[in-house]
Parts: sequence; structure tokens; C-alpha cells
Amino acid sequence: MLKILENIVKNVASKPYTSKYPFTPYQHFPGTRADVTFDGTKCILCGLCERSCPADCIAVHKEETTIEYLNTQCIRCGYCVRVCPTNAISQNEVYTKPSREKLTVYTLVTNENAPIIKKRKAEAAKKAGEAKKD
Ligand code: SF4
Ligand code: SF4
Repeated sequence: MLKILENIVKNVASKPYTSKYPFTPYQHFPGTRADVTFDGTKCILCGLCERSCPADCIAVHKEETTIEYLNTQCIRCGYCVRVCPTNAISQNEVYTKPSREKLTVYTLVTNENAPIIKKRKAEAAKKAGEAKKD
């Protein structure tokens, strides 16, 4: 009985544990795993994220040097973030609003350390060198 009275007094004196949503904006807990974003300056187009994604929502296009991400298909599991060797993927605390349309996000990769970009640069330099000789 004493314990119940103690709890009642404590709860009356404390702030409410719930917020007045939707009148006050919802605050996500720190560390919430929501939307995924790709950093094209860090990515090396290795394809690990695509292979590890259980929802099949990442496509790495090496030739086009782009990453295609199906936002509305993503289950926010965070596997891609964990496997990326260059920390090019991050998960923020913002959720995309539900949508009836598929939302696809493209990221252009510009990292000069990406093997395909390196190879293209070397080929272009070689061609330029040959053109000078002629
Ligand atoms: S968070 Fe999970 S489902 Fe979403 S893109 Fe990454 S691996 Fe795929
Ligand atoms: S985002 Fe990371 S895991 Fe995915 S292709 Fe780029 S470097 Fe590889």
C-alpha cells in the first residue's frame, strides 16, 4: 500500500512520459536507424552493399559510376552501413514519409580512388600521351 502511494505521488509530481503528438514534433531516439544516404566522394563502387542488402534495394552501376537506391523498398536494417569498407553509407534519424510512389535516389560516384574511375583516367592520360607523340 505504501509503495502504491509512493508511486502515485511520484507520478503526479513528474513530467508526462508521452508527448502531445502531432501538436509537438516527434523526437526520434538517438541512434535511430532511418534513411540511408550514400557519399559519392567516398564510394569505390565495390558492390558489397548491393550484395548484402536483404531487400534488394541497392544497385551499383559500375559503368555509369552511380548507385541506385530504392528508398521506399529499404527496410532500414543497416547491413549496408556495416559492410561498406569506406564508410560511404550513413543512416540518419529522418524517415521518408510513406508514399504510394516508388522513390529512387541516384548518387553519382566521383571518388578518384574507385578502380573504374582510376582506370578511365589512366586510359585517358595514355591516349593524350599518344596523341602528343603523333
Ligand atoms: S538499410 Fe538494409 S534494406 Fe536498406 S539499403 Fe541498407 S541493406 Fe538494404
Ligand atoms: S557504398 Fe560502400 S559498399 Fe557500396 S559500393 Fe560504395 S564503397 Fe562499396
